[in-house]
Amino acid sequence: MLELSTPVQYIKGIGPRLAEVLAAKGISTVADLLSYLPFRYEDRQNPRGIAELRPGEMATVIAEVRNSGLFRTRRMPIFQMTAGQGRARLKCLWFNGTYLRDRFKPGQMVALYGKVETGRNGELQVMQPQFEILGDASEDGSSDAVDQKQAASLEIGRIVPIYESAGQGRLTARWFRRIIRNALENIPQTLPDPIPAAVRSRMSLISPIEALWQVHWPEAGESLADLQSSRTPAHLRLIFEELFFVELGLEFRRRQMKAQTGIPFRLDDRSRDAIKKILPFHPTAAQKRVLKEIAADMEKPYPMRRLLQGDVGSGKTIVAFEAAIIAIENGCQVALMAPTEILAQQHYFSARRILESAGYRIVLLTGSLEQDRKREIRRHIAQGNAHLIIGTHALLEESVEFAKLGLVIVDEQHRFGVMQRLKLMRKTNEDGPREKRSRAAGKPVSPNELTGAEPPEPDVLVMTATPIPRTLALTIYGDLDYSVLDELPPGRTPIVTRRISDERSNEVWDFVRKQVAAGHQAYVVYPVIEENEERELKAALKMYKELSNQTFADLKVGLLHGRLDSDLKEQVMRRFQSGELNILVATTVVEVGVDVPNATVMVIEHAERFGLSQLHQLRGRIGRGSGKSFCILMTGGKVSEEGEQRLDAMVRTNDGFQIAELDLQLRGPGEFFGTKQAGMPSFHVANLIRDRQILEAAKREAAAVLAGPDPEISQSEIDRAVRHMRTRWQKTYGLVEVG
Ligand code: ADP
Ligand code: MG
Repeated sequence: MLELSTPVQYIKGIGPRLAEVLAAKGISTVADLLSYLPFRYEDRQNPRGIAELRPGEMATVIAEVRNSGLFRTRRMPIFQMTAGQGRARLKCLWFNGTYLRDRFKPGQMVALYGKVETGRNGELQVMQPQFEILGDASEDGSSDAVDQKQAASLEIGRIVPIYESAGQGRLTARWFRRIIRNALENIPQTLPDPIPAAVRSRMSLISPIEALWQVHWPEAGESLADLQSSRTPAHLRLIFEELFFVELGLEFRRRQMKAQTGIPFRLDDRSRDAIKKILPFHPTAAQKRVLKEIAADMEKPYPMRRLLQGDVGSGKTIVAFEAAIIAIENGCQVALMAPTEILAQQHYFSARRILESAGYRIVLLTGSLEQDRKREIRRHIAQGNAHLIIGTHALLEESVEFAKLGLVIVDEQHRFGVMQRLKLMRKTNEDGPREKRSRAAGKPVSPNELTGAEPPEPDVLVMTATPIPRTLALTIYGDLDYSVLDELPPGRTPIVTRRISDERSNEVWDFVRKQVAAGHQAYVVYPVIEENEERELKAALKMYKELSNQTFADLKVGLLHGRLDSDLKEQVMRRFQSGELNILVATTVVEVGVDVPNATVMVIEHAERFGLSQLHQLRGRIGRGSGKSFCILMTGGKVSEEGEQRLDAMVRTNDGFQIAELDLQLRGPGEFFGTKQAGMPSFHVANLIRDRQILEAAKREAAAVLAGPDPEISQSEIDRAVRHMRTRWQKTYGLVEVG
């Protein structure tokens, strides 16, 4: 007997070595193994006779290997294998098939699946068929797992699950079939369902054991289309289950947060006046609405956890400053974190410009400051002399202690991993360096500390400019409340985006020159990505020399890239901001947040190499003032098909939400959210794009379960669900604690 929690090495046929291979695939228990789903299914219910095949049809054929070999054409090596049934022959060809050289032996039975065609000499052939060698145990990880005869019956005469192979092909699809079958047969056939019965019936979910059997071993007659698109009742059950427990965890955290003690900020006339005085313009309706939402949160007795989304240029900064004023007017400190030094510096300058007249003291703390200076600033922070503390993630460093941190603002959150976000929130947690904080401050000791009561949690506002479709935002940031700035400040003319080959760069430079003559400024951006940093940086530097010494010798051209030391960066940025520089040659360091409204041209060289969201961010640097702005995407060399789609999208739309949707589709959720470094789990069965509707339902149901009391859901069911959720979260999210 196996349990779901049994480690895989206790399954017959899996020793310590194979267990290691599986562990690399994230499979360590029986439950993991069972959620290793087939990525497609093959209909071998009716294998066809070769003699009856017709060109043009997709077919499964089970036949015997007659002969095989590699031959070379001028263009590539081709592997050929001839399979036979009696006197009938079927030719199979694989381009670049060198890797198949030693695979087939005459006399073996093989299952072949592919599109039947007529070959050059009128014979039947299949190009690049899917294949599987039946009855050849030697290539499997283990041969004694299951009796040979039974194994053969798993391969033929049914809908067969196809698994991705693992361990460099050592663990074949066929091996997985047998081992998963074996596991299924040996687990208890009545698994308790962790989903409460009322939810199960509302969602018409089949039982977990039924779902597992059917997803791996579909019954005869199950719709192939439903199987391939993961829409069978078995798939729906497993997808719902996975999403339900993610949502339950998020909902749980949200509720926990609301049970904590926060700072009930007061929004009185004084802060209102202060806000009114600093505003350099009339806020948009969206800005007003969002500030209201934030202020309402801040007044609550529990801590705020809010996500603010807004397309580039929608005016998030001023909203953040307004929130900061409320906190400062209530006698608290505010930390504002940006993803880059340049952005932190920019915020610092605009904060000083806008807020300093109100008497607020603002400091900038970044990693590159000299030690002495840093120490001094830290002391100001600890003593409460600094009101608004702006910095990069250096603010996360342990040694920064706040006297009375009331509000944390995280700008351009998409650049921070989820892990960093958690670290920040934890820093503001009682188990963080809190006691150290007041000790370092010397005093004052708060009354809370004397009584032993827990000091309140600061509010947190997270801002992002990568618009994420709402439903998805609710998953990834489901523990946060959500506001959106869906309106651009008035007076903006839509940016004109054009794509042009770099062979016509002269025309582009002429255009830039004209814009500069009209009093505007321009960015010229080069791709420098980490993998090829050295080489690409050299190319960017070379272009900078050429542009500054030749093309625009009569203009002021500046250079900005990540390797410059931060004084220099600051200096260059300031000269560009003040209008002294006409043209800024830069790498993607200008990608986020940079705000120079007089810049109206963005030339992006090798635009085909940038990701879609990145292009949109870069374009967001222009069109920020009233002048008509132009984004010129220069391409050099061959552009991939996906590259074409990205460029097309850029030319077609300025709408960040549309761009985000497409980017998500092109790259998939994992890459889009940067989940790898962010520590978000990739889903086993669910796909955030395909399964959006199930996600919404899972969210709704999870909220309902925790909202209680519900006559249909018993406390013991809730407890079981929460226990199950905890185990899952601990396992998939590692560090993240729930509860
Ligand atoms: P983002 O949302 O991309 O961070 P910013 O906060 O940098 O955008 O604002 C973009 C530009 O729009 C800035 O130059 C800012 O001063 C300006 N801006 C913001 N709100 C308004 C408004 N209500 N009216 C006019 N200009 C505004
Ligand atoms: Mg911004």
